[in-house]
Amino acid sequence: MPKILVTGAAGYIGSHVARQLGERGEDLVILDNLSTGFRSAVLYGDLVIGDTGDRDLVARVLADNDIDTVLHFAAHIVVPESVANPLKYYRNNTSNTRNLLECCVEAGVKHMIFSSTAAVYGIPAEGAASEDTPTAPINPYGWSKLMSEQMLKDVSAATPLRHVALRYFNVAGADPGGRIGQSTPEATHLLKVACEAVVGKRPGLSVFGTDYATPDGTCIRDYIHVEDLAAAHLKALDHLRAGGISATLNCGYGKGFSVREMLRMVEKVAGMKLDVAEGPRRAGDPPELIARAERIREQLGWQPAHDDLEHIVRTALDWERRLLRQPMV
Ligand code: UDP
Repeated sequence: MPKILVTGAAGYIGSHVARQLGERGEDLVILDNLSTGFRSAVLYGDLVIGDTGDRDLVARVLADNDIDTVLHFAAHIVVPESVANPLKYYRNNTSNTRNLLECCVEAGVKHMIFSSTAAVYGIPAEGAASEDTPTAPINPYGWSKLMSEQMLKDVSAATPLRHVALRYFNVAGADPGGRIGQSTPEATHLLKVACEAVVGKRPGLSVFGTDYATPDGTCIRDYIHVEDLAAAHLKALDHLRAGGISATLNCGYGKGFSVREMLRMVEKVAGMKLDVAEGPRRAGDPPELIARAERIREQLGWQPAHDDLEHIVRTALDWERRLLRQPMV
């Protein structure tokens, strides 16, 4: 039976997808350089420690394991860092994806599922983006992913490879079984930062901008539970295995919550008040970013099972408490 290669499966989203794949009996090989991921987040599959930019290693892993499908998560994901150090992003996210793709074509890999991002839309008019909304990234992170999408499209047109690119909106929450979650230090994402404040890892947090043209003045995002996002990858795999055509699909719930609404929910779940300061806007933040999310339901038959902000917050906070007791290695 051909195996599946999962790059970046020691990281946040990749580890949840690999866990779901492993639970349903798929045979996995994991490629991760452990630069931001953790060995203990790899619950299934054989871990190869290395880089997606290492041509010899990737070619060997593909050949030795009879890989017919690659799920590619390995990437840098911090938007402000991409602004400060764009070439780091173009190397890891774009050049390394090019290398991986070349190795995949040479090895006859049939399917690729690619982690893309809502950042490809930049600042969409009216705050919501469908897959047909023009792409217009406003930071190198978004460009680095959009360029990879383009390579995938071109390669899929020129070779037998077929792919699904999933454009993630704001991924949050953790494994409801409490085994894995977002563990990277120096968090920047809102819910993670708020959970760190709840458990005392930081004194409080700031709201970045309260003067946006939104109902309460703070930015609105479409938060999707990582379990639902992971399930979308399994649906994408089934689609490709069944002979489905290449596709680019939004992953979100199609509804938004403001920063203040998120923080209120964290306070409710935690049963405590947070120390919240109101600060200036953060550069590069679109006021509103919501998925038009019909297409993934139509094309993959994906249905969310965790579409509940309180549940998202509860699983994230449970994970943060677990991390405090038992740091990741
Ligand atoms: N945000 C905030 N304080 C924080 C972190 C984030 O007010 O400490 C805001 C941020 O400005 C944005 C929203 O929360 O409006 C979501 O930001 P996050 O970094 O979680 O995800 P992004 O949408 O940038 O991918």
